[in-house]
Amino acid sequence: MEQLKKQLALSLKKLRSERGWSLDRTAIETGVSKAMLGQIEREESSPTLATLWKIARGFHVSMSSLTEPDFVSGQQTVYRSSDEVRTQPTQDNMLVASLFPFEPQFGFEFFELTLLPGYQRESDPHEPGVVEHVVVVSGEMELLVEGKWQPLKVGSAVRFAGDSHHGYRNLHDEPAVFHNLICYPKTGHSRSS
Ligand code: MN
Repeated sequence: MEQLKKQLALSLKKLRSERGWSLDRTAIETGVSKAMLGQIEREESSPTLATLWKIARGFHVSMSSLTEPDFVSGQQTVYRSSDEVRTQPTQDNMLVASLFPFEPQFGFEFFELTLLPGYQRESDPHEPGVVEHVVVVSGEMELLVEGKWQPLKVGSAVRFAGDSHHGYRNLHDEPAVFHNLICYPKTGHSRSS
């Protein structure tokens, strides 16, 4: 958790300096308050997932490039373990394991996400052109897509437009685990920094 705080502080400061954005400008672009941005940069606050997504979207970068900006595997074989990389951002009943963080040459990030019982989150649209894939690995969950909550079971696979309103919830007593592949459109912006 401390490691994550430190990394987010570094990533935010680096992005701001690369863009030449003040805290005021960053607050406008991301929709995250200046006070919160300052707290993240001073490692005083562990932002929620919703806040992290706002920052990612505001800077036009992927989520995992905020948490693991230096991940570059290229053509190398990569071994990762969910158990080793899983984190629980503050106030979220969702556990996040970034199995394959974003790399510009591939244009996607791949997560294992765990929804604890009772978890529900409606997500702001991602950037235009983002496509998400959900594959349920264990438990049961529901996905809000095109305005309807769709029940999903183990093995269910869905691809949907991540740039529209969507959500995830678990109404059951057991955790639900799914794989989430997020593909970013090819554009001029750098998402890796
Ligand atoms: Mn999403």
